[in-house]
Amino acid sequence: MTRPKVAFFDFTGCEGCQLTVVDSLQTHLDLLEAVEIVNFREAISRRDDDYQIAFIEGSCSRPADEERLRGIREQAALVVALGACAHMGGVNAIRNRQPLQDVREYVYGERAGWYDTYPVRPIGEVIDVDAIIPGCPIDGEEFIAAVKMMLQGRMPELPEMPMCVECKMSENICVFTQGGACLGPVVRGGCDSRCPSVGVGCEGCRGLLEEPNMPGYVEMLAQHGLTPTDIEHRMTLFLSHPLAQLEREGS
Ligand code: SF4
Ligand code: SF4
Ligand code: SF4
Repeated sequence: MTRPKVAFFDFTGCEGCQLTVVDSLQTHLDLLEAVEIVNFREAISRRDDDYQIAFIEGSCSRPADEERLRGIREQAALVVALGACAHMGGVNAIRNRQPLQDVREYVYGERAGWYDTYPVRPIGEVIDVDAIIPGCPIDGEEFIAAVKMMLQGRMPELPEMPMCVECKMSENICVFTQGGACLGPVVRGGCDSRCPSVGVGCEGCRGLLEEPNMPGYVEMLAQHGLTPTDIEHRMTLFLSHPLAQLEREGS
């Protein structure tokens, strides 16, 4: 039986999602027998341009990325965004909040002009994406489950359960009642409310809900004596790009 050919590609990111893939495959050797990995810079030296499933880590951050992304899209039957950078710009999109030239000069000093970087975008703004595996980094088990679904001809879907629901089901004490702050009411669950379960507010690495109730969230912040500005750093760590989109849409 012919095994589906799978390729992994990296754009702007820290490669933590690819490392999670490598790590999770070590305990799921059955998957390595079910697929043929033909391109995965971080793990193998093979470089084939013939594949059916492409996993893409990282965001689009320069003009040359667009052509490369389109080339992958043309080849692959299925394209999967791997992690917060590919899914929604992730931490890279923090820089979109500053003038680009200031950011370039801050990082590269007098060599700022050498780099053709531009505002960060999720890959879904350049090419069609068939599925998203969210998180920063992705969850290894969620990745394995998604690959198994695809091999069965099904596509993984993003859970739309708010983090707060998952958190309540875990019987956590809300961090707001302990003087903390959390993005749980407006972000997607699916990680077993990992951060609130250890007493730390969620920072939204899995992305905003499809229709986040931002006015309700702002009202709730006010009830706890907070404003969106008070938790701006938390809100913009992963969500700079989606929040800017909401702002543009006037939501
Ligand atoms: S989503 Fe997080 S772990 Fe994955 S590449 Fe981006 S910064 Fe790294
Ligand atoms: S800790 Fe966060 S996720 Fe949990 S209930 Fe409170 S706001 Fe919601
Ligand atoms: S609780 Fe929030 S920040 Fe923590 S892993 Fe889950 S989505 Fe990411």
